[in-house]
Amino acid sequence: MKRKALIIGAGFAGLSSALLMLRDGWDVTVLDNNEGPGGRARLWSEKGYHFDMGPSWYLMPEVFDRFFASIGVPCAEVLKLTKLSTHYKVYFEGENAVTITEDLEATKKLFDSFEPNGGKRLDAYMKGAELKYDIAVGSFLYKEYKSVFDFFNARVLTEGLQMGIFQSLDKFVSKYFTDRRAKQILEYAMVFLGTSPNEAPSMYSLMSHVDLKLGVWFPKGGMNGVAVAMAELVKQRGGVLHFNHDVKRLQVENGQVTQVVTEKGTFEADVVVNTGDYVHGETQLLERRWQTYRQPYWNQRVVAPSMFIVYLGVKKRLPGLEHHNLYFSVDWNKHFDTIFKTPSWPENPCFYLSAITRTDASMAPEGCENLFLLVPAAPGLSDPEEFRQKYLSALISHVEKTTGQSFRDEIDVCRVFSQQDFSRDYHAFKGTALGLSHTLFQTAIFRPRLQSKKVKNLYYTGQYTHPGVGVPMTLIASDVLATKLKETRQ
Ligand SMILES: Cc1cc2nc3c(=O)[nH]c(=O)nc-3n(C[C@H](O)[C@H](O)[C@H](O)COP(=O)(O)OP(=O)(O)OC[C@H]3O[C@@H](n4cnc5c(N)ncnc54)[C@H](O)[C@@H]3O)c2cc1C
Repeated sequence: MKRKALIIGAGFAGLSSALLMLRDGWDVTVLDNNEGPGGRARLWSEKGYHFDMGPSWYLMPEVFDRFFASIGVPCAEVLKLTKLSTHYKVYFEGENAVTITEDLEATKKLFDSFEPNGGKRLDAYMKGAELKYDIAVGSFLYKEYKSVFDFFNARVLTEGLQMGIFQSLDKFVSKYFTDRRAKQILEYAMVFLGTSPNEAPSMYSLMSHVDLKLGVWFPKGGMNGVAVAMAELVKQRGGVLHFNHDVKRLQVENGQVTQVVTEKGTFEADVVVNTGDYVHGETQLLERRWQTYRQPYWNQRVVAPSMFIVYLGVKKRLPGLEHHNLYFSVDWNKHFDTIFKTPSWPENPCFYLSAITRTDASMAPEGCENLFLLVPAAPGLSDPEEFRQKYLSALISHVEKTTGQSFRDEIDVCRVFSQQDFSRDYHAFKGTALGLSHTLFQTAIFRPRLQSKKVKNLYYTGQYTHPGVGVPMTLIASDVLATKLKETRQ
């Protein structure tokens, strides 16, 4: 008889765990409260527009390659990828917009135009970023941290100190560059990690290697297309997926989960892997005595931003936009402060705007534009309907002015997704989009554990655990968990 695994969540963590556990001989059932696969990477379709609701950047392709190889299928057989020749366009407040392309030499020339020797400085910076990336992938990410000594090991303490990993990214970048545009290009990705350049350790400069050198890719069908392909593989390999199944309670007896309770039925399993919001999983699904991390623990964490997202279908094309577009205000610290210091809705917000039809025209009706607009915001802000409409209107004016594209009068489809939606649809603590921030003390050993301390057969993986936020990271987290399950012969 195969041992039974019950996985909560059909996001990237749940689907990748399911595939790895099927590989390892488990009988796998996945439960998710939403209507289809992807978790935060769900799809929303309306009037012929198909919106990726969450992630849109396919980064670190080698992590996907390694994941699919580990389950015995080449990535190219599962996903149809296109490499973007233009990685993104940046609108700088008060300056000309620039594009970052796959041509690193062109990016160096661009940096030369920002400040004297900018290209040379970028070269030196990128060498360090590549080294950090190699160390991270080689000996830092694919690993469970069981004690602080695993983290503060000899390599981290020697090479890490040389690389200045304990200083903030902003201080580190400032050693190389004074021009704010150069700095913003090298620092913006910290928002992907749910933190700010002032709080993120400078080891995350490795993100510049990811974004400027390894490249930006687009999977056919968008990021949700990746989740759909993974869900298909789960089914082909004998796994069972139940959508619209909200887990309400984990019944624990003698320190073991005995039943997983939903309104549609009760499931039994030898092992439960929870990939949903960790805070909800601990504080809402378990009785207090079985919680490893109680509410006060979570209240003291730095919670990653929520987001004000708008899905827009527009009845015309906006030729000035690239697939990925970013806007950075002159003083973006004001925006970061509204997220991390004085929680409030930002004025003159930095934003991300995606026009997916640049690469895949099938994501919108012919001649139309599918726009995804995102403003990071503090977690836990109130967003009643009246406020959302007002903020939306101001945001559209802001985007039109910044990009020089007008589209308000051609809006065909418009949906806001923000704080209350994250809480309702994903049980997200404080409406967070990304879970826990990547501050130094929420990295590696300092992230919540893979295994409950109190309930022996209860495991966690996903963006809350090590290595953290982002689709590639969740694939790695599942890999780490699968190794642990094998080692402990669960
Ligand atoms: C708007 C946005 C943009 C992003 N952009 C990028 C990007 O471009 N590139 C990138 O790599 N990453 C990006 N990220 C981050 C990335 O999407 C996440 O880190 C990753 O998808 C998290 O996957 P997960 O499986 O851990 O969690 P989730 O995707 O949240 O999946 C967990 C699933 O479990 C379900 N669940 C929770 N509780 C229960 C319960 N009690 N019962 C049943 N089901 C439950 C949830 O509803 C959800 O469906 C973005 C995130 C967001 C929100």
